[in-house]
Amino acid sequence: MAGIEGKVIAITGASSGIGEATANHLAERGAHLVLGARRKDRLHAVVDRITAQGGSAVGTVVDVTRREDLKRLTDTAVDHFGRLDVLVSNAGTMAISPLDDLRQDDWDAMVATHVTGLLNGIGAALPLFRRQRCGQFVNVASTAAYVVKSPQAVYAATKTAVKVLTEGLRQEAGPDLRVTLVSPGFTHTEGVGKGASPQAAAALARQRDEIAMPPSAIASAIGYAIEQPDGIDVGEIVVRPTAQA
Ligand code: NDP
Repeated sequence: MAGIEGKVIAITGASSGIGEATANHLAERGAHLVLGARRKDRLHAVVDRITAQGGSAVGTVVDVTRREDLKRLTDTAVDHFGRLDVLVSNAGTMAISPLDDLRQDDWDAMVATHVTGLLNGIGAALPLFRRQRCGQFVNVASTAAYVVKSPQAVYAATKTAVKVLTEGLRQEAGPDLRVTLVSPGFTHTEGVGKGASPQAAAALARQRDEIAMPPSAIASAIGYAIEQPDGIDVGEIVVRPTAQA
């Protein structure tokens, strides 16, 4: 199966930013979407916009830190559309701060969202993909998985974990499954600096406003990986603004 049209694609973190842009990009190309995030109103606004424009989408409230929520997301795909072709694990939090600030709840949230959240997605989708004998994981990491910049230690560590888990999954996936890592650089979303310490948030917002690329740049990279024919596995894509060091 090549292309995007007709594919059943679940996306976590679809209520804003890169997840929302990816949903729009894939809907315009004829995918059936199953969208998840915690903010019900924002999530349903995305679903409503897509369906109003003739696209195919359903939404379900998902907190990726909860195993049962990922199972509900994949079950929703099967119940509504009969299968799941792609799981895009995109949900994330950029609550960045210096280690000395001891914002340990934020550290825990980044570990829970990026590491446990990704594992919950693998736990829900892998058995289904095995039964179907096809399926694709698209995992969203960050350029922080390639280079750590202060004060992003915890964020970079969790995104490095996403990269390592993705490569491990790829090696175990076998010939029927595809596994893709997409690593964005600075992207213009509401999430940049959200929940970060005031100084980090101000620095990130300034940098975002100076150099960030639109989320559609990441959406089209994800679309590229998905539209390849079966048997062609795009392993890793890094997309950053030219101005990003
Ligand atoms: P946004 O804040 O706009 O999007 C993050 C999304 O994740 C939202 O839809 C949010 O929705 C959702 N989310 C957060 N926590 C959870 C959770 N526990 N369960 C379910 N959904 C959750 O930011 P971006 O679009 O920028 O971020 C998307 C991804 O891209 C993240 O993984 C981020 O780390 C990564 N990234 C972003 C970069 C950038 O510069 N913007 C650079 C590199 C990587 P809700 O609150 O409704 O749950």
